[in-house]
Amino acid sequence: AKFVEFIDVEKSYGNFHAVRRLNLSIGRGEFLTFLGPSGSGKTTTLNMLAGFERPSEGVITLDGKSVDRLPPYERNIGMVFQNYALFPHMSVADNVAFPLSVRKLPRAEIGPRVVRALEMVQLERFKDRKPAQLSGGQQQRVALARALVFQPTLVLMDEPLGALDKKLREHMQIELMQIHQMLGVTIVYVTHDQSEALTMSDRVAIFESGAIDQIGTPDELYNKP
Ligand code: ADP
Ligand code: ADP
Repeated sequence: AKFVEFIDVEKSYGNFHAVRRLNLSIGRGEFLTFLGPSGSGKTTTLNMLAGFERPSEGVITLDGKSVDRLPPYERNIGMVFQNYALFPHMSVADNVAFPLSVRKLPRAEIGPRVVRALEMVQLERFKDRKPAQLSGGQQQRVALARALVFQPTLVLMDEPLGALDKKLREHMQIELMQIHQMLGVTIVYVTHDQSEALTMSDRVAIFESGAIDQIGTPDELYNKP
């Protein structure tokens, strides 16, 4: 089996089918993007993979184990959201340390790991600041460092660059691609921005009305005659 498998997954809210009969495999190390208009089921699919929501039907496996049955900290999934979701009262360093603290890592290990994660996003010199003292792009890089610090095997990103202006967004796209290459981590990325999807992804799944309408490499999807 592949690293991630969705097997006949459905999600309904009452009579409304947010996600219909989804079958999808994701390989280890892959950068897969969910592309599609608002309301097409991208976030719902991502949230089920994160274990935030349970499928109404079907099963999702991570490394062969049903996501439902894995306790949260054994899922080893990092998450990045559009609104950063940083803790405002904590310093940058404490924000990044948080996933390690809740996993009860020894303090002597936490410090060096936080430094390395902050170096990766070039924010070591801001470690003592509060999130409000940073720009939007810097806050998003803190969120990224926090998602990567515990060396997750899977990172889920929901419109992470959506709040940034165009120039910064393009810069961050390159940074994300470099981090993906460097760490070899599996990334599932949600966006409604086609150029973003085509630039960064190994494969793109195009969502339409709660289903994957097409899936393939950027080349397969857009450069075929
Ligand atoms: P997106 O930006 O991905 O379109 P939304 O802003 O529409 O997400 O929704 C944010 C969250 O609110 C979703 O993760 C979903 O769980 C919840 N949500 C969305 N639509 C509804 C709804 N009609 N009723 C209740 N909760 C909803
Ligand atoms: P996308 O991420 O592609 O914008 P979502 O997965 O957020 O789409 O939402 C898909 C559909 O499911 C939307 O029509 C949304 O309103 C609906 N939805 C999402 N969460 C809920 C919820 N908790 N209750 C009711 N409807 C929801």
